[in-house]
Amino acid sequence: MIEVTNLNKVYDNGFEALKSVSFNIDKGDLVCLLGPSGCGKSTILNMIAGLLQPTNGDIAFDGKSIVHTEPKDRNIGFVFQNYSLYPHMTVLQNVMFPLSVGNHKVDKKVALATAEKYMKLTKISDIRDKRPGQLSGGQQQRVAITRALVQNPQVLLLDEPLSNLDARLRLSIREEIRRLVKEVGITTIFVTHDQEEALSISDKIILLNDGVVQQDDDPQKLYLEP
Ligand code: ADP
Ligand code: ADP
Repeated sequence: MIEVTNLNKVYDNGFEALKSVSFNIDKGDLVCLLGPSGCGKSTILNMIAGLLQPTNGDIAFDGKSIVHTEPKDRNIGFVFQNYSLYPHMTVLQNVMFPLSVGNHKVDKKVALATAEKYMKLTKISDIRDKRPGQLSGGQQQRVAITRALVQNPQVLLLDEPLSNLDARLRLSIREEIRRLVKEVGITTIFVTHDQEEALSISDKIILLNDGVVQQDDDPQKLYLEP
């Protein structure tokens, strides 16, 4: 479904953050990009989302190259590390937002029904009238994921989605994320530097180091240094 081929990124200061990165992701899989800070995980996500242009190489969805399309013309759900919720909006308004602007704009009634459907799935219906500032980290996380899902994206991108949560929540939320993406059936890329996290939730792990793919395999087959 997603084909990344010889992806290369040289930043303006001359630093080569990615060196010919290639991998494939099957439809419906939950794949982890795993590696230490600075190995290039965010660079890859940002290029898939269209927030950053590759220096060389290609990204294709279902056989069609997307690298020259605008972010708004890609149907991608992005959950940022800090959630990036709109602080002045309620939970419901946050979740409905992608359906009220741009290419995914739909009739208000349809937007409300869609938002309600996904809020039920992520179990946030009861906090719909609260604002982000009144929510716990775990609740904010659920809102951010719900907002990313309402436009029925081709791919869900999660950038270190558990890093701002406390240890207890991290365990339960990662199980929830796995259950949710499998229930929705959405192809998901999950970025983390945490081996255990990657091993526990992914169908496949792409291990990166210094801008190079070191391994790309099932969690059971992956060799990880102790
Ligand atoms: P990760 O997400 O794995 O922590 P990043 O993709 O953020 O890694 O960064 C990969 C490397 O590229 C790091 O060494 C980082 O310092 C560098 N880098 C990221 N953004 C820029 C930039 N705008 N200009 C120069 N170097 C950058
Ligand atoms: P992450 O948490 O994804 O690793 P970072 O904290 O590395 O993100 O980077 C945050 C922002 O700073 C990004 O927009 C990245 O492009 C930019 N950045 C990171 N490293 C550098 C660098 N060496 N030079 C310039 N910008 C950088």
